[in-house]
Amino acid sequence: MAKITKVTARTILDSRGNPTVEVDMITQNGCYTAAVPSGASTGKHEAWELRDGGKRFLGKGVQKAIRNIEKIIAPKVIGMDCREQEKIDRLMIKLDGTKNKSKLGANAILAVSLACARAGAAESRKWLFEYISSLANTKSKMPRPFFNVINGGKHAGNNLVFQEFMISPRMKSFAENRRVGSEIYHLLKKDLHQKYGKGSTNVGDEGGFAPEQLKNAPEALHILMKAINDAGYKGKVDIAIDCAASEFYKDGKYTVDVKKLTAPELTTYYLHLIKRYPIISLEDPFEQEDFESFSELRKKTKIQIVGDDLTVTNNNRIKTAIEKKSCTCLLLKVNQIGTLTEALEAVRLAYAHNWKVMVSHRSGETEDTFIADLAVGLGCGMIKSGAPCRGERTAKYNRLVRIEQNFELKTKILNTLQYLT
Ligand code: PEP
Ligand code: MG
Repeated sequence: MAKITKVTARTILDSRGNPTVEVDMITQNGCYTAAVPSGASTGKHEAWELRDGGKRFLGKGVQKAIRNIEKIIAPKVIGMDCREQEKIDRLMIKLDGTKNKSKLGANAILAVSLACARAGAAESRKWLFEYISSLANTKSKMPRPFFNVINGGKHAGNNLVFQEFMISPRMKSFAENRRVGSEIYHLLKKDLHQKYGKGSTNVGDEGGFAPEQLKNAPEALHILMKAINDAGYKGKVDIAIDCAASEFYKDGKYTVDVKKLTAPELTTYYLHLIKRYPIISLEDPFEQEDFESFSELRKKTKIQIVGDDLTVTNNNRIKTAIEKKSCTCLLLKVNQIGTLTEALEAVRLAYAHNWKVMVSHRSGETEDTFIADLAVGLGCGMIKSGAPCRGERTAKYNRLVRIEQNFELKTKILNTLQYLT
């Protein structure tokens, strides 16, 4: 029995400098830590992120969530076996008792859930990714990265309405993909610098460039293609876009580059972009309630259509999207639902209906690398964790390189560093 002996929580700062929750789960053998990220372009139907309100941290404090962990959750899970992931997650769901985890806070519950998985993995003498694959009954596989190199929307103070312009190299190994991502990122920086001047290479929340001078998606895609070609990877790198369309939707219209478009007009625009550029994936092309426009677009193109704000890692929403044939891929964000067990259920449902799954970070991240192991363990083949730049983003990509190396060597050395086990 790997008994939980103590659970403590604290406030840490995320990559935007906002407070978030970190938990230590202590067992007879060790201390296992996990932290919770936070979104900016959050979906309306996401699980509830509990904030304190008031003056502290301008209302964003997480002392209530911490109190809920230490006073309500901890007394119940102490004495339980940390390898009982589902039992512990279900217990927290019950303790909360609300539909969206608004009583204890999804941030409180998720921090405990992730720390529990890390403890369970270590106590089982497994890598975290191996442990996740045993929980999910999936086959581990290295994912392909999607690097967000140009930021717009809510993640940047520029004029681009689409939130993320991502590149995804198709090399033979993760390490090679990381190298190619980095090379293109730096050539893009040079090109932006030359064309628009110094300020154009300031970065947005996810580490991608956020040039004020780029006026629309074709301009962003054009300079991105130049960097890909200059780097010598023409035909070897695909493009993905997260439109995050709920953020530019109002009263039935989408404001795209000063024009107000209806959903069918926006569909035509997407089809035009797909024809001109090597785009293989479009995320949230329409606002979060418009399952129908997603399906209309899906009928008209073979590229991957990803649900994020639409599906919010929530099985009820995913079921609707399956019925309406809205998507071909689920964006998996653990904090949208609040427990690892429910996130794995969402993956099971998606796989059962032949959807793909892309594991995702949040725009407000921490140094925790959990999602790197999650992507490998689920064998889903895709991860987005921002640009190949900035510590909270590269932490995940670097962790993936470590996993890949050890995967190949088939070593089972338990790395005892925080966040690395
Ligand atoms: C996203 O929309 O996919 C994303 C990562 O952004 P956020 O975390 O702000 O929702
Ligand atoms: Mg998104």
